[in-house]
Formats: sequence, structure tokens, C-alpha cells
Amino acid sequence: MMFLSVGIRFEANVEALNMVETAGNYTKHRRVPYLIEENGKLKTVYVPAISGESLAHAYQEHLVNEALSAGLPVCDDCRRGEFYKSMNKIHLEKKVSPIPDDPKEIEEAIVKACVVEDVGGFLYAEKPPVRRSSAFQVSYALPVKSVALFATSEPQLHARHAQIDASSKKGNVSEQMIYYVETGTALYGFIFNLDLDAVGISAITSKPILDDNEIKKRREVSLKALFRMLSSSQFGAKLSRFFPVGGITELIVTVTEHPFVVTSPIYDDYIERTKRRLNILKNFGEEIFITIAKEDRVAEEALKEAIDYLNEKGVF
Ligand SMILES: [Zn+2]
Repeated sequence: MMFLSVGIRFEANVEALNMVETAGNYTKHRRVPYLIEENGKLKTVYVPAISGESLAHAYQEHLVNEALSAGLPVCDDCRRGEFYKSMNKIHLEKKVSPIPDDPKEIEEAIVKACVVEDVGGFLYAEKPPVRRSSAFQVSYALPVKSVALFATSEPQLHARHAQIDASSKKGNVSEQMIYYVETGTALYGFIFNLDLDAVGISAITSKPILDDNEIKKRREVSLKALFRMLSSSQFGAKLSRFFPVGGITELIVTVTEHPFVVTSPIYDDYIERTKRRLNILKNFGEEIFITIAKEDRVAEEALKEAIDYLNEKGVF
């Protein structure tokens, strides 16, 4: 019985991690309304944000890589980073044919065929519908509240130049394209949870679908994928030219026997509050684990400590 919750704070200067729309030559950053308190009054400001969907996509891409390098099964759609999951007959038939009538058998076939759909869930929207909720959860990344007013999303001007034929001397404007990319700058916080007990277990019967050894391997790759995603900063869009300048500034990891979620790192006292909340659980006799990366301690050190703890506990 193990539930992992991670709170991450990261600084990103000039990022384009989550773009929502392009109007002409202008690409907009995702923005959300944010309630903040100023001089005792509440007000709404619009701040740059990165959707949970975008972070989940990145996590699943890392999961594909980790699963494949461990020799575990990943279906063809997920291998390509196209996470339709087994949403309909066409996609499911690639895994199992003929398609069984029993939802339990459908779930079993999908889970066996693909680690990403085991850990990340799926929705088979046919008759009968089969739903498996994701073993991992991820929040939006939002600016830390106390400094949210300093978060910005500003358009940056860029120009794409085409080779001009010197002999024609035309040099008209179409050879230079002007475009704008809205970039965000903020100290962000987000939460990632992983229910290790859900991996390889049927969402319908709560019984194991896979053998113990396979379940342990899958838990291990699901942890490695998280480690890799955070330590490589490979999440979000436009990394090739707008790789965010900054990195993880703080991180907290808890492991509990039952679901427990760290206090959101958008609050300045999130570490203190998480500890206080955990202490109550401890009084109830629950075994708890907590580790923090802050100041001199880097994120990887805390993540590794958590993974070592889970290893000791026989989670994988
Ligand atoms: Zn898949």
C-alpha cells in the first residue's frame, strides 16, 4: 500500500511550454484567472499557466521510453506518443482481436498489452464502455501565489529569413516573416501523485491482472519516468527554441500507506503545512515518509531517496 505525492517548484524564464492558439502570426501562451490578495482585498489577475494535460503527456512519453528500455510492452499508438489509448474498436483491435464482450476481459487485454494504458488509464467508449482511471494525477503548473503579480506573459518578436536571390534584387517583404511568440516567466508550482497500488490491478475487480514480478517492474518504470521527466526538464512545448531558463528550485516528496497529497507548492508555507498534516497521520499509526530538496539539496537527491525508500519497502 503505497501512495507517492510530489510537490515541485520550478523557475522558468522565457518559456513557451504551453501554447493555446495561433491567430495569424501571433501564438498565445495559456493563461488562467488567478485570485490573489492585495492590501487585504481580493483581485483577479491573469497569469501564465501550463496545463495538467500537457504535463501528463510529457510524463507518458517518458513512461514509453522507460518501459521500452526495461523490455515491457507498449502498444504502437503509445509508442508514437499518440495517446488515444484504446478509445474505440479501431484502436482496440490492434491489441486484441476478436474484441471480448466482457469488460473485465477488455481491461485485462489492454493492461497486458500496454504499460502506458495500465498506468495512465484509458476510456474505451464503445459497447460495453470500459474505463480505467489513471494511476497518476497531475495538476496545472501555476505561478507561486506570493509572487504571482510578477509572473508575465509577453510577446517576443521573431523573424524568419528566406534566402534572397541577389541577382533579382527584389527583396520584397515576403522573404522575411515576422512572428510573435508569447513567452511566460514565472516561479511555478505543481503536484504529481502516483498511486503505486493501482499499477497492474484491475479497476473493475481490484484483483491483480499481472503477476507480482511484472507489477514491480511496471512500478519501477513509472517512478523512473517521473525522475527522468523532472531531472531532464523535458516537458511542455517548444523546447527546441524556448527551452526554459531556470530549473527546479524546491521539491517535496511524501510516501504514505493511503492516498495523501502534499500541500500545493503555490503556497509559501507548503512544506510546513505538509509536515503538520503528515504528523496527524502519523498519530493515527500510518507509516509516513517525507523528503525535501531545498537550498543546497538538489531535486534528484530527494527523488532518489524516495525511490530508495520504496525499493526497501519492496514496492519494486
Ligand atoms: Zn497504449
